[in-house]
Amino acid sequence: MYPELCAECGGRVEISTDAMVVEVRGDAVVTPGIEHGRCTVCGEEYLTLDGVERLQRAAIRRSKQVRGLLSPEEIKDVRLSLDLTQAEFERLLGVGPKTVVRWEKGTVYQSATADRLMRLIRTLPEVRCVLETVASGLQPVAPGTQGAATLP
Ligand SMILES: [Zn+2]
Repeated sequence: MYPELCAECGGRVEISTDAMVVEVRGDAVVTPGIEHGRCTVCGEEYLTLDGVERLQRAAIRRSKQVRGLLSPEEIKDVRLSLDLTQAEFERLLGVGPKTVVRWEKGTVYQSATADRLMRLIRTLPEVRCVLETVASGLQPVAPGTQGAATLP
């Protein structure tokens, strides 16, 4: 299905489903999960005709998803503006470990919900306080009730 040895360097070619980068209308789109042959030495990628078609379809679908989402650089900027590590930002947003790492690398795209949450934080930095309260397991105090629950 794939050559056993790389045509470029003679290295061994193995089956891989690692992310491939495809250009769609000028955008580099990271497309994971498409089976292909990959040279273990130089990284040259080999696709079957069927693989080429599947890769193109997946890349176009992904490009549509990504259009309009914050870019990996923008996500990093939001995080750094809060002076948070990737792990702290994950906790604040309520996403799993290594999720922000993957968003910032561009290997995984954020959901539309996470994207809007990050835009909200970017526009209204005070949202962070509400999220920190939620993340620490406490209910945020509703506006107008502050101080009303003072204990004797
Ligand atoms: Zn090679």
